[in-house]
This record gives sequence, structure tokens and C-alpha cells, in this order.
Amino acid sequence: MSGKLALHWQMLIAMVLGGLLGLLMNNGAIPAAPALTSTLDVIAQLFMNSLKLLVIPVVVTSMIVGISRIDSGIGKLGGYTLLYYVASSTAAIIAGLFFVNLLSPGLVDGVAVGSHIALPADAGALMQKVENRGAGDMLNLFLSMLPPNLVTAASEGNLLGLIVFSLLYGYFLGRLPTEQKQSQLAFWESAQAIVMGIATLFLRAAPIGVFALIANVLARTGFAAMAPMAWFFVTVVLALAFHLGVTLSFLLWQVAKASPRQHFRAMLPALLTAFSTASSNATLPVTLRCLRERAGVSERVSGMTVPLGATINMDGTALYECAAVLFLAQAYGVDLSFAQQLTVVIIALVTSIGVAGIPAASLVAIAIILGAVGLPLEAIGLLLITDRLLDMCRTAVNVYSDSVAAVFVASREGEQLSPPDSHSASD
Ligand code: ASP
Repeated sequence: MSGKLALHWQMLIAMVLGGLLGLLMNNGAIPAAPALTSTLDVIAQLFMNSLKLLVIPVVVTSMIVGISRIDSGIGKLGGYTLLYYVASSTAAIIAGLFFVNLLSPGLVDGVAVGSHIALPADAGALMQKVENRGAGDMLNLFLSMLPPNLVTAASEGNLLGLIVFSLLYGYFLGRLPTEQKQSQLAFWESAQAIVMGIATLFLRAAPIGVFALIANVLARTGFAAMAPMAWFFVTVVLALAFHLGVTLSFLLWQVAKASPRQHFRAMLPALLTAFSTASSNATLPVTLRCLRERAGVSERVSGMTVPLGATINMDGTALYECAAVLFLAQAYGVDLSFAQQLTVVIIALVTSIGVAGIPAASLVAIAIILGAVGLPLEAIGLLLITDRLLDMCRTAVNVYSDSVAAVFVASREGEQLSPPDSHSASD
């Protein structure tokens, strides 16, 4: 053990300091001088770029290597993965439903609060983004699984298309005659090792990156503007905390027979990255690295479950979609019937699969649900007030659930987790 502070501590301290700087800039105690703002912007952008740069190489190499290692029973492994996705997302949605019904964030003394909260100034731009969204978006999702052009899919960030292709590539690689298989595998394994090496290098800068990201967000939003939405904020955070701390921990402990505490600790750098970037896709290289090097999940299982999970398994998002729509119904004084609430649950489950792992992506899904239950689309403007901060929280839960999926599938496959003896020092 060296005397160096563990990566997650470095990141946590950096985030607290960044948050402090952002708040001081927001309330004017530190003047948000153009030089300071643009320096923070550049650092934050560099960090985001370094993560995004690795997403496609990570997805392709880890899927190919992971799938090619599965000699038989790929259907069983896929089955466990999908079973986990549906079960955990459903549990998340129920948590959202429960907490909104329990705490009624849309009512103050039994009166709907909608008309008392001013819409943020940039609500118009958002409306343009979400208008004309509907079932066609889900159809596009299915179409994107089989892109006509691989290069275009990569340049457009169509991860689902790349995942499907890499999955097929890995499957047929695993079925090549021994000699060809060895040489192909040697290539892809080395490529994967190189990509993970670059990820490790970039991760050293993570504390500086998260410092700038958090400072940037809080300098812009602050907390004051959120005051009228504070109760909604608390409701969502409590529901997310319940899902992560109770449901997923229980699953780890009882079903996967793993220590929730150890796993949480192992995944902390990924959670903090997810929190500061609000993007599960950008966090992917860090998630994969934490799972393999700190939580001890094999390449075979993590290679398949993590890229897929970052794209289609979104517990925090599903929970948020449900909570947000029920909140808006309360805030606008609309009583949703049981059948309507059920509709919200089902659409939240389905749309969370289609939501991209990028910031603010859920708002489009929420627009679809609002339309389905007959609520006004303008209602979504209210969500903008708290969206970035809640996005950070739900993305961390999305990423954590992907990591629990990997541990769950590994346990079903009879794999033993093999975390390194100590990851507490320099990581
Ligand atoms: N930002 C989320 C993610 O990347 C998606 C969302 O809920 O908007 O996982």
C-alpha cells in the first residue's frame, strides 16, 4: 500500500471543493470571471471528451472478447441478464410510485402547486425538442439495432447497433477453427488491454475533471432556483437512495451472495464519474474498469453485461420517469386513475430501455408518457428546474444497477468474484 489517497477519495474531495467553488460563483461571493469560467469549461470538456473517446473502442473490444469466451449457454447468460434488467427496473419504478404517493411532492397543504411555480426561461427550447415525440421513437430504437452502415452507426453514437454487431462478431469468432480463433482472440484481447490502459491513464485526471464539471453545474444552477421544487427533489433522491441502498443491496447480498458494502466501495469511482457527467455512456470505460479491477468480475461476464446495461438498463431513469409524471399530475391537479398509473409504469419500463445514456435523455421519454396519459406537454418545463441535479443522481443509480447486473449474472454462472486484495491505496 502506498501512502497515496484512493481514487474515490480524491474524486470525492475534488467534487466537494468543486461544488463549493460553483456555489460561491453562483451567489457572487467569487466573481464568475470569464477566465475562470472558460478554464473550468475547457477542463470539463477535456474530461468528457477523454471518456467519450473511449466508449466505442471499449464497447467493441469488450463485447467481442466477452462473447467469444462464452463457449456454450450464451442464451442462458442473455436470459439472466434480461431477467435482471426487467426485475430491477420494475422494482425501481415501484419505488418511484411509492415515494411520490407517500410524500405527494406536487401538493402543498393538499393544494396543487403547478400554477405557483414559474417555468424556467429556457422551457421553450425544451418544448421544441420534445414535441412530436411518440411511439415512432421506440420503433427507431428497434431499427437502430441493425444499422445499414457500421461506420455511420459509430459516428452517430448508435451504441445498440454496434453492440449487436460486436455480439455477432464475438459469437462467430468463438466458433472459428482453433488456429484462426487463437490469432483473432490474441488481437482483440491485446486491443482490449490497450484500450483499458488508456482508460486507466485518463482516469488519473478524473479528480480534476469532476472538480470542473461540478463547479460548472453549480455555478450555473445554484440551489436557490430549486426552492419551489425542493420537495420533489427530496422525493426522487429518497426513492433513488432506497433503490440503491435497499433493493439492489438486498439483491447483491441475498441473491448474488456478494457484500453490498464492498461492491459499493469498489464501484465508487464509476458512481462519482456518473454523478458528475450525467451520462452512463461516457462512464462506461470507468464502470468496466471498476468491475474488473476492483470488484473482481470476469471479462467474460462484464464484457457482455456492461455495454448492454449502459445502453438499455436504466433503473434510475425508469424511476425518475414514473416519479416525474406522477408529480406533474399532482402539481396540475389531475387525478390519475389506477389504469392510468399502470400505463405510466408500463411505458416508463419500456421507454427506459430506449433512453440514451446521455444527459437529460429522459425528458423525451417523459414527453411520451405525458401524451399517453393526457397531461399537457408544457408541464415538462417544471422539471427543467431540477433536471441536471436529478440527472446526476439517476445516472449514478443507472450505472450502479449495471454493475449489480454483472455480479448477479456472474453468480448465476457460478463464477467467484476475485477482487484484488486491496484497492484502497492508489487504486
Ligand atoms: N442521463 C441518464 C444516463 O445517462 C439518462 C437520463 O435519465 O436522462 O443514464
